[in-house]
This record gives sequence, structure tokens and C-alpha cells, in this order.
Amino acid sequence: MFDKVEVRYARHTRHFRLDWMRVWMRKRVVVIGGGVMGSALAYWLTRLDPSISVTVVERDLTYAHASSALSAASIRQQFSTPVNIRVSQASIAFLRNAAAELAVDDDTPNIMLREAGYLYLAVPAGAAELAQAHAVQKACGADIALMDPAELEKRFGWLNTSDLSLGSLGLKGEGWFDGYALLMAFARKARNQGARYVNAEVCGFAVDGTRVTEVIAADGSRTACTHVVNAAGPWARRIAAMVGVDLPVFARRRTVYVISCPAAMTPFPLLIDPTGFWIRPEGTKFIAGFSPADDLDDQPLEPDYGSFESHLWPALAHRIPAFEEAKLERAWAGYFEMNTVDHNAILGPHPSLENFLFMNGFSGHGMQQAPVIGRAIAELILLGRFDILDLSDLLFTRIAENRPLREANVIG
Ligand SMILES: Cc1cc2nc3c(=O)[nH]c(=O)nc-3n(C[C@H](O)[C@H](O)[C@H](O)COP(=O)(O)OP(=O)(O)OC[C@H]3O[C@@H](n4cnc5c(N)ncnc54)[C@H](O)[C@@H]3O)c2cc1C
Repeated sequence: MFDKVEVRYARHTRHFRLDWMRVWMRKRVVVIGGGVMGSALAYWLTRLDPSISVTVVERDLTYAHASSALSAASIRQQFSTPVNIRVSQASIAFLRNAAAELAVDDDTPNIMLREAGYLYLAVPAGAAELAQAHAVQKACGADIALMDPAELEKRFGWLNTSDLSLGSLGLKGEGWFDGYALLMAFARKARNQGARYVNAEVCGFAVDGTRVTEVIAADGSRTACTHVVNAAGPWARRIAAMVGVDLPVFARRRTVYVISCPAAMTPFPLLIDPTGFWIRPEGTKFIAGFSPADDLDDQPLEPDYGSFESHLWPALAHRIPAFEEAKLERAWAGYFEMNTVDHNAILGPHPSLENFLFMNGFSGHGMQQAPVIGRAIAELILLGRFDILDLSDLLFTRIAENRPLREANVIG
């Protein structure tokens, strides 16, 4: 009799201990920032490990200033570094299937993906660099065609090719989509799979040796964590500074101009001009932008209306004569989260703070990379290594060790 009770008690204790151990060992991830990066990560973590605890701390759930809500949301294969091309190839595959991947019950998101291509243009001085990038893209299997001015003119009758010597057109896997819809779809699916979104502003951390143990919010709340991820977009530098890390990511304002033009011009890809501006169709209108020469940090998010007339319009009208008749309808401004070292993503753990991970510094190409970077960071947390795509080239360690991986094709 006593023996039976003891055995039962021993079993019960063992189960209790195992359950307690499971809870104790369960990964508790705190993601700072619920933009497209933080939400893609929350989605992948909860999809790959349904038992995981994921808390996304977002200070503004309206995303009024978040880059993800202010993005031009375009995707290209035409990068100069192979790792970015591989990321785009995986990303476009995800985006094509986003409705099924991110459906919640019968509710399927529509991210309105349009694969209309990118057209990079070069004057003689830039032709060699364009051809060199094209060789890298072809070696990675991207479907990109080089075109001389006669071919460009034949395909795009509305284009002034008089000063051009080369063009590079994406035939597949490039275009644009609704970035806000993608953000919402990731966040909704992540919540549906168990992620918790908390409306709070992170203001500090508790650190024990080489590990962050708690994330502290401005309202005084503290969230214990096994892993913490900096997904704070253009504000990532401030989060890194809270643990004493000097992250070379700066908030650089970019204005997006909404323009109407009476002329019919089809087909019309996303065009990158040798002077640096970009333009693409958006519904019945166009959106366009460029990088300002005086690229200051933390400018207020007021659109730079003055530069439309002084800078953008003349360049547009030179390249596309029909734009002489163009009209500026409105404009908005958002921040690029600019990595000033090499214009590439900065990923993974800090060398001396093993459970603090970065997903920052996308320098204007984060929206298109989010589906893949979200998965990659989830793999680092769950497996301790990259699995489906080796993104070691983008690890934080290259910054710490001063081994930049420069991306030449940074847009506007
Ligand atoms: C005008 C413009 C055009 C762009 N065009 C393209 C494009 O064509 N293609 C492309 O791929 N990319 C493009 N991008 C870049 C892309 O939008 C960004 O790389 C991407 O959205 C970054 O996502 P994120 O989640 O890292 O940052 P965000 O969307 O900015 O999210 C960061 C979040 O962190 C929150 N946060 C910050 N600090 C704290 C804190 N202390 N506590 C709690 N929460 C905090 C913020 O509120 C914010 O919601 C463009 C960006 C802009 C501005």
C-alpha cells in the first residue's frame, strides 16, 4: 500500500519536475518593434515552434512613423552582392504564396504583388558597373536582360535614351506590392499563432554577465526573456545604445512624391535613373523619390516639397519627356534605416551579449527582405544556426571586425 502511494507520488513529482523544466527551458523571445521585421519574425517563430513564447513590444500600434507603413514596397533581384540576390529569390517565392501562407482561417490577405520589373539605366560612365552587377545576378540565376539604347527605345517608347548606353531589365521576380498589407498579414497571423503584442516603449534592459535577462518598458513593466531581438527599424541605434553597443544605423528621411501624368505609358517598370531618382506606377498615378545630397540624420518627417520642382521634376522630364505635363499630387516622408558602414542588413547576436540579436540596417530594402530575414532570425533562435539560407555574410560580427560587405545598388 505504502509502496504504491510512494510510486505514484514519485511519478507525479517527476512529471511535475518535467513540466516545470519545460516551462523553465521554454524560449521566451521579446521582439522590440512590431514593424514588418518584428512581425515577420514573430510569425516564423510561432510557426516553426508553436510552444514558444513570443512578446512583440511596439510603442505605436498605428505604425504612424514606422518605415513599414511608409514604404514604396518594391522588390528587385538587381543587387550587387550575391547574398542579397539569394534573399530576393527566396522572398519573391514567399510573396507569390503570401495569401496561402498568411491566411487566417478563410481570410486570405491580398498583398497586390505586381511583377512589372526594375529597369536600371546607365550613361557611358556607369555602364561597366551595371554590366558587372548583371554578371553577378546572372551567376545567381536571376532573370535579368541587358539592353542597348535601340532595344530600350523599342520596348519603352516613352523613354529618352539619347544619353544612355545600357539598361538592365528584370524579366521575372521584380516589381512591387502593398507593404502595409504584408505588415498587417504577418502581425495578424503571428497573433493567431500565439504571439502577444504589447503596446509599450522599451527604455532599458537588465543584463546579467553576457545575457539580457529582462526588457524594461517606460511604464515600468519588465518582461523576462531568453532572447531579445532589436527590430526597431530606424530607431535601432537607440535600442543598441541601451546595452552599450554603437550600431551604425541612422534614420535618414526619404520623401515619396505622388505624381500624375496625362500620357499613357505602358509597360512601365520601376525605373532607376543614372541621376539617382526612381519612379514607378502606383494605381493610376506614379510615385518617385531620390536620395538628398545633404542626407542628415533624424530630420522631422515632413516631406521635402521644395526639391520636387528644383531637383526631381527636371530630371524626370529629361528622362521621360511626357513628364513635362506632370503634376505633383501629394507627398509623404519616412525613414530609411541606413547602415552607413556597408548599406546591408546587420543580423544575429552581438559577440559579447549572446542573447541580444539584431535585425537592422536594411538601408531601404527591408520590406522585400522581411519574409526571409524573419525566418533566418527565427532559425538562429531556435536552432542556433541558419538553415534554409546561409546569411553568415550579414552577421553583426562583420561590423565588429570591420569587414564591410558593401551593397552598391542602394536606391534613393
Ligand atoms: C520612403 C521609403 C521607401 C522604401 N521603399 C522600399 C522598397 O521599395 N523596398 C523595400 O524593400 N524597402 C523599402 N523601404 C525600406 C523598408 O520599408 C524598411 O526597410 C522596413 O520597413 C523596415 O522594417 P522594420 O520593421 O525594421 O522597421 P519599422 O517598420 O520602422 O518598425 C520599427 C518599429 O519599432 C518601433 N519601435 C522603435 N523604438 C521602439 C521602442 N523603444 N519600443 C517599442 N517599439 C519601438 C517603432 O514604433 C516601429 O513600429 C522603404 C522605406 C521608406 C521609408
